[in-house]
Amino acid sequence: MRTYPGNLIVILLFLCAAIVPAQNAKSRKLHDEIKARASNEYAALEQLYKHLHGNPELSFHEEKTAARLAEELGKAGYTVTTGVGKYGVVGVLKNGAGPIVLVRTDLDALPVTENTGVEYASKVRVHDDQNNEVGVMHACGHDIHMTAFIGAARLLSQLKNQWRGTLIFLGQPAEERGGGARAMLKDGLFTKFPKPDYCVAWHVASELPAGTVGYCEGYALANVNSVDITIRGVGGHGAYPHTTKDPVVIAAQTIMALQTIVSREMKPIDPAVVTVGSIHGGTKHNIISDEVQLQLTVRSYSDQAREQTLKSIARICRGVALAAGVPENRMPIVKVEDEFTPSTYNDPALVKKMAASMQAILGADKVLAKEPVMGGEDFGEYGRTAEKIPLAILWLGAIAPERVQESLRTGQVLPSLHSSQFTPLPEPTIKTGVTAMTAAVMDLLNGK
Ligand SMILES: [Zn+2]
Ligand SMILES: [Zn+2]
Repeated sequence: MRTYPGNLIVILLFLCAAIVPAQNAKSRKLHDEIKARASNEYAALEQLYKHLHGNPELSFHEEKTAARLAEELGKAGYTVTTGVGKYGVVGVLKNGAGPIVLVRTDLDALPVTENTGVEYASKVRVHDDQNNEVGVMHACGHDIHMTAFIGAARLLSQLKNQWRGTLIFLGQPAEERGGGARAMLKDGLFTKFPKPDYCVAWHVASELPAGTVGYCEGYALANVNSVDITIRGVGGHGAYPHTTKDPVVIAAQTIMALQTIVSREMKPIDPAVVTVGSIHGGTKHNIISDEVQLQLTVRSYSDQAREQTLKSIARICRGVALAAGVPENRMPIVKVEDEFTPSTYNDPALVKKMAASMQAILGADKVLAKEPVMGGEDFGEYGRTAEKIPLAILWLGAIAPERVQESLRTGQVLPSLHSSQFTPLPEPTIKTGVTAMTAAVMDLLNGK
């Protein structure tokens, strides 16, 4: 340990006392400016939100949405490339040497017929890829993400003299189908454009009050796999079961046996979900059918848990069929669908930094720690390339505070994401999203 002369310590203390308030005053001034600019932009942003909400497009069909975002980014001063991974949009703003920060929004809506009753509700109906006529709605709040994204893009461009580095504003298609991030990466996102030091994003939260934000360190969202199982038997007359191998009974046994994967095979501290969401088989009372179809959703955080659940499903399906005496050529078919989302791991250090920036501009009571969820998001893909880029997706409170209060008081659950009644409150949700993201990104660019 070294000792310092008393007068040097006095000088240092004096300098610290002078610098800290000066810094506080400087960041307060910047925060006031961010808030004032967000208020200035708000009317135009609400119009943009209502336009996007009323004109939703399904995954990998986001043609007009992508065009509008490209136009907005161009107007805000970004160099825009379209058609990355089909309808992906990349806006780049270079502003000297410094960190490279990627801000991502998703573009797509869901095949849900809106039932919110708001005057700007979507009336859009289209034929989906299977040619079914469906209503289309931004039931996952991606329209809020896009609006907050454009707001932050504008503010960061307007405040260019306050930071150095490079911004990448990325509009990603097909989040809901889990293929959009992969498509953009495959199309050279990290080779044709500057490689980011950080990737950040919002997702609206259907249980947090508008005006607040939520954060979660580490695993935040789950690995999601869809599995299709065809249980095959040997059909025949319902009165002669001894001449058949009944796939309905085998399916019932299989479903019960699948419940033991999570309860008996998985490490209790490594979470997983195995849900059989659909079962279809048979046509009539007295016919033993040839097969039964099951559809499963399988979720976890760690890649090891993902592998283990999928392997166990295949083993149990085969084992139950063997026990029932199903011949080898009628063993069950277990198909893991290609469309999946990997879990999202929020870099703890990055989340801490962003939460601190957001607390500084919104107030500590507006920034809430949140538990991880078993929902899926393909945002995690951006952190899973060889570069292992740290990423963070934060939750943006979106529901009228009095509705959240009422729900807590009565226990009546609020409509969740993907519900036809999911109704975000544009103000203050959008303003909060713009303000908090602008402040957090600016701190990252300034190395704070
Ligand atoms: Zn969704
Ligand atoms: Zn979503």
